[in-house]
Order: sequence, then C-alpha cells, then structure tokens
Amino acid sequence: MTTLLTTHDITRIVAAHGLPQVLRRLEEAITADFRRWADFDKVARVASHSKAGVIELMPVADAQQYSFKYVNGHPGNGLQGLPTVMAFGVLADVATGLPTLLSELTITTAMRTAATSVMAARLLARPASRTMALIGNGAQSEFQALAFHHLLGVKRLQLFDTDRSATAKLMRHLQGVPGLEVQVCANTADALRGADIVTTVTADKCNAVIVSADMLAPGMHLNAVGGDCPGKTELEAAVLRAAQVFVEYEPQTRVEGELQQMPADFEVTELWRVLHGQAAGRRDDAAITLFDSVGFALEDFSALRLMAELAQGLGLGRPLDLIPELSDPRDLFSLLAPLAQQRRAA
Ligand code: NAD
Repeated sequence: MTTLLTTHDITRIVAAHGLPQVLRRLEEAITADFRRWADFDKVARVASHSKAGVIELMPVADAQQYSFKYVNGHPGNGLQGLPTVMAFGVLADVATGLPTLLSELTITTAMRTAATSVMAARLLARPASRTMALIGNGAQSEFQALAFHHLLGVKRLQLFDTDRSATAKLMRHLQGVPGLEVQVCANTADALRGADIVTTVTADKCNAVIVSADMLAPGMHLNAVGGDCPGKTELEAAVLRAAQVFVEYEPQTRVEGELQQMPADFEVTELWRVLHGQAAGRRDDAAITLFDSVGFALEDFSALRLMAELAQGLGLGRPLDLIPELSDPRDLFSLLAPLAQQRRAA
C-alpha cells in the first residue's frame, strides 16, 4: 500500500518535533547521504521551460529506494495567489517498483534547502560567522534564517527585499526568536556590509545582479540559492571569479546555477568530495567561498525518507488507494468486470 503524507501531516511533524529539530535531522540525513555519494544512480533534473517558469522532475535511486520530486519555479505566481515553488514527491521500492510514499514537498523543500545551505556553510564558512545578510525575503527566507540561527549560531540578520511587504512578513515571523537580532536594510550593499555569510534567495526569471564583486569582503561565504535554472542568476560573473565555488552535482549546476555564466572549464568542487576529505574546503580565513545551490534530487530522497520515518513515529499518514490490490496480480480486469456486468444487466 502507498502512504500519503499531506501538507497537514508535515506541519504536524514540525509541531511535534519543533522546526530546529526537524532541520537538524534533515541536515544529518542529507549529510549522511552525500557521504555515500557513490551509492546513488544520479542524473541532472529534467526541466520543461515556459515563459512564466519551469516544471522539473528530479529522480535519484540507491539499491533499495527510488525517489522523484515534481517541482516548479514560477516567479510571477504571487500575483495569482500561488507560491513560486510547489512540489510533491514519491518514494518507491527498487526491488518491486511499488510506490511506498506520496508526500507533499513544498514545505519540505524549503526545510531541505535550508538544511543543505547549512551543511555547505558548516563546511565552508568561517566558524566564527555570526552575521548573515538575507537578500530575498519570500517563502524560503524564514527557513534559511532559522536554520542558520539554530544550527550554525548566526545571531544577526541583515535583510533586504525589493518588496517591503515581504521583509515585513519575515520580520513578523522572526519577532521574539531569542538571541536573534534582525535589521532591515535600505539595499543589498547595506545588507552585505559586515556580513560573514550572504544568502541570496530572490526569484526573478532573468540574469539579475543581486550581488556584485564590489560588495564582497574577505572571508565571506555566499549561499546563492535563488539562481537555479537557465537564464536565472543572481551574481555578477566577477563574484564567481573572486570565489572558491562549490556545487551539489556538477552536471546539473553547469546548466542551472550561477555557473552557467562561466566557461565549461571553470573550476568547481562538488560538496561530497569535501565531506569525504577528498577535496579541500575554504583555503584560508580571507578566501571567499560560494555555494552555488540549485537543489539536487538526493536532498529530496533524504527528506522523503526522514519525513516517512517521523510520520510513522507519530502515527501520521493514510493509506492511499493508488495501486490496485489484486488477489491474482495477472487479473487486473477483475476490478472492472463487476462494473461491466452491472452495466450489461441494467
Ligand atoms: P518567493 O517568490 O516567495 O520570494 C522571492 C523574493 O525575492 C520576493 O519577496 C521578491 O520580492 C524578492 N526579490 C526579487 N527580486 C529581488 C531583488 N532584485 N532584490 C531583492 N529581492 C528581490 O520565492 P521563494 O520560494 O522564496 O524562492 C526564491 C528563489 O529560490 C526562487 O528562485 C526559487 O526557484 C529558488 N529556490 C531554490 C532552491 C534551491 O535548492 N537552490 C530551493 C527552493 C527555491
């Protein structure tokens, strides 16, 4: 039987465990799966582009489980009352192909993206980093802010968004978080002044220059989350040239990340190699490091497995009549035969 986890189930998991604990568990799960990188059958996601946005399928598998995520990115969706990013995903049993889980992944994507950002920053940012600039204060921003605060010890946030109502919403949600100081800034350059870490999580389907090289300071770590599909970037190319650049899965990031602006031989390092000790992370305290985040299927695989485990522990999830249950698996027609007989009799 396939289990269904709804948006409500995911919010109940977060309510039961607390967001910091769920983020912590996600970071641990994603880190553990990145460490066993070679176990996975990996492929860059399949994207279907339109003028308004993109719809993507993200598959990955190990020897036991297969997963895929359906996700979109439509920066103009807010005008229609819809989120920019919406997602759901499936876990399946490799041995039989049976889909075991169908789950919401919109909230879960925001949490797994923030957990992945922290995993990268833990490897790359200076350990004493306490101040983060957060550019783009939309749907993902609270998750990024709280993950960096609870998991990495960021104590001060410097915010900027071109839409003041987005920043006001973020301020409202962060109000009263103990030990977190929040400052609203007049522009991106102001927000970056004095920041140890810079998170960009804006949405616009264009080659934007949110951060230019003149805004950088020695030792900064950049967590560039918003540029994640062809023709959609946030950083000036000179920022990449000034930085040591780290990615999730190079073949995908070459096409979708900030990296799309750079020549094919521009040097980058996959994060799993740093986790394994096969590649160096930050060179020294003055280096600028950049995590060119686009979101990789393996993060959703880890997240789906964790959500399934947490849901089971809380007795959440309901059986979904998705795959026919048959006493004789070769007699699929038996499910329709009674209906056909009824129609004939009528
Ligand atoms: P959102 O639409 O809810 O928020 C985006 C915010 O960016 C808005 O508040 C908007 O006003 C602001 N913005 C746009 N242009 C700006 C600019 N020039 N300067 C400052 N702010 C600006 O979108 P979201 O769900 O928060 O997602 C943000 C981006 O992150 C999207 O592009 C999405 O595709 C991407 N994303 C990436 C990953 C990943 O794994 N890397 C995961 C999820 C989302």
